[in-house]
Amino acid sequence: MSTTSLASNSAFMARYMALEQPRDKIMVTYVYIHPGNDNLAHFSGKTKVIDFVPKQASEVPLFDFALVTGDSLVEVFIRPVQLYADPFRGGDNKLVLCDLLSADMTPLACNHRYSCNEAMDAARDQHPWFGVEQEFYLMNADTNWPLGWPTNGYPEPLTAPHAFYYGAVGAGKQFGRDVMEAHLRACLYAGVNIWGETSEGQPSQWEYQVGPCEDIRLGDDLTMSRYILLRVAEDLHIDVSFDPKPVAGWMGNGAHTNFSTEAMRAPGGLPEIKKAIEKLSKNHAKHMRVYDPLGGRDNSRRLTGQYYSSKMDKFTSGEADKGVSVRIPMHVIKAGKGYFEDRRPAANCDPYLVTEAMVRTCCLNE
Ligand code: ADP
Ligand code: MN
Ligand code: MN
Ligand code: MN
Ligand code: MN
Repeated sequence: MSTTSLASNSAFMARYMALEQPRDKIMVTYVYIHPGNDNLAHFSGKTKVIDFVPKQASEVPLFDFALVTGDSLVEVFIRPVQLYADPFRGGDNKLVLCDLLSADMTPLACNHRYSCNEAMDAARDQHPWFGVEQEFYLMNADTNWPLGWPTNGYPEPLTAPHAFYYGAVGAGKQFGRDVMEAHLRACLYAGVNIWGETSEGQPSQWEYQVGPCEDIRLGDDLTMSRYILLRVAEDLHIDVSFDPKPVAGWMGNGAHTNFSTEAMRAPGGLPEIKKAIEKLSKNHAKHMRVYDPLGGRDNSRRLTGQYYSSKMDKFTSGEADKGVSVRIPMHVIKAGKGYFEDRRPAANCDPYLVTEAMVRTCCLNE
């Protein structure tokens, strides 16, 4: 289907966007993730009009509706947990991130935020911080092929593609910069703790970073940043692929997860970083099962040792080395304190599962 929305209708929409909004009517978009039949996370949003300006998520009313899961309909509650300004409607309108509860108010099986929050509560005195580097491809929505690539073909040159396209400028090298500019500004407006963005190694492959965020906030801000990206791209009739390997033979998409505790960030924290990496090395298989949505199967297409990736079945670590599972950045070695980078999570990972696993292994010794 090639019907476009705002991209071809901006003049039409401008008239309605400019209408004065009644002061006592606030549009709140409830954003939630739920699994589809493919086991991947799907994003949804639905709007409710309320008659006050909420100051925090807990003031926003619960929403109940019937969720399609597999062949059946299940009555669920979506519970507001984190409030953001709405960059699409502006004004006092809100986006509110929600988690999913069943009719008896217990978390649904797909609600990974709930147990993540329990782990974060238990580790609160260690002040865990996370930062995620979210990689993805922008896709031509009609051909399901990376934006700007020749139809049924590949961009040039095939040799040293990373050096050629990373951070590059120029027509023919960059596609979708308007998506990235809009996304960055929309995230800042919304209150998502976004850290930066850069084009990646292949044309139409991009990365933005979220963080550092303390505990559960990383999962919340990363989830909302993904929703905002999907929405911005939708307005331009562009798709987003978080697939760990959208095109076989070309660079895959990761979600490098940077991690620190207060002890690692303190002067002389480097030994604390090494202790955590040692613990991770002993739990490699366990982590790989939650670092993508298919229990490791999805990531196995990406972690082949090619293109600065590590190997799926083997834990490795190193200093300033990009072919390893876990890396300590150069500037951290120099400062003797800071954080480390777990390069294994796939771009389509559930950040609640990833940060929970890191905290349970590194902080709670489980
Ligand atoms: P890379 O050099 O691997 O490309 P980036 O510059 O893309 O790294 O991303 C760095 C990430 O590290 C960001 O997401 C940032 O939020 C995160 N980060 C920075 N400081 C810390 C810290 N002390 N603890 C955890 N994460 C951090
Ligand atoms: Mn209905
Ligand atoms: Mn990066
Ligand atoms: Mn990257
Ligand atoms: Mn990285």
